[in-house]
Amino acid sequence: ERRASLGASTGPGATSDGHRVPLLANIGGPADVAAAVAAGAEGVGLFRTEFLFLDDQAAAPSQDRQTEVYRQVLEAFPQGKVVVRVLDAGADKPLAFLTPSDEPNPALGVRGLRSLLEHPGVLATQLRALARAADGLPVHLEVMAPMVADRADAKAFADACRAAGLRAKFGAMVEIPSAALRARSILAEVEFVSLGTNDLAQYTFAADRQVGALARLQDPWQPALLDLVALCAQAASADDRGCGVCGEAASDPLLACVLVGLGVTSLSMGAGSIAHVRATLAKATLAQCRRAAEAARAADSAPGARRAAQGVLSGE
Ligand code: PEP
Ligand code: MG
Repeated sequence: ERRASLGASTGPGATSDGHRVPLLANIGGPADVAAAVAAGAEGVGLFRTEFLFLDDQAAAPSQDRQTEVYRQVLEAFPQGKVVVRVLDAGADKPLAFLTPSDEPNPALGVRGLRSLLEHPGVLATQLRALARAADGLPVHLEVMAPMVADRADAKAFADACRAAGLRAKFGAMVEIPSAALRARSILAEVEFVSLGTNDLAQYTFAADRQVGALARLQDPWQPALLDLVALCAQAASADDRGCGVCGEAASDPLLACVLVGLGVTSLSMGAGSIAHVRATLAKATLAQCRRAAEAARAADSAPGARRAAQGVLSGE
């Protein structure tokens, strides 16, 4: 008993009946790596590279500087996987040299991949820096784009990755409802998808994630959000592709079980949440997670979904 619980507190993520769910860390740079390793993260599921760009608002960091920082992160996970997200500027993270200052509605403006496609040199430099950083390392490097809306976006990103000579898996974040609805067509261009549930909630409910008064609509237990997750996970599974979650939703242990039940294949979160998610997942069977997911989707509200899932997972 003691050994089993010890195992569950340090080992790889899995349900009690052995269904593997890699537990990965969200990081903002090399400073976060130690905590991720200490928490037993099996790799990085979201490296938010924008922090590297915030120091100097006048220009992007040089390719050499970027290579150095990416290398530090990649070296920390010699056998693991590291999913790097290319620069996600705009909206709540404006960058002077990239983000238009006159947008009436920045969250719906030129942000994420959209701004990189308008500044292809910035994207190319970042992708080349990643290619150089990974050179000679056994790490499984994956690179994904934020704010992919449709297949054309996914193709433009994959083309840029190929042009930069990047030998990595290319993926798309699903954080716009159009991408969740048509995940299958996005997966015709890229190899995996990763759900950014923070923005996906914002765009599904037309509720600004920075407006506290709208927190009820930002709740990732909202059944409409769970429906979109299910749709995306089913599309990925039909093509035998990975469908991760790297938004805040993955850090809620109960919701993590529901996400697994919906078909999500990996979970990425702040290092501080990994132990709790690992322990909760280790107590549920895959069948229980699936029943909890069904019960949550049958509810009509976020609190109702949570109660229903809790009921199933606690064996009531
Ligand atoms: C998200 O939108 O869920 C996400 C993971 O990206 P960010 O929070 O950095 O926008
Ligand atoms: Mg996002």
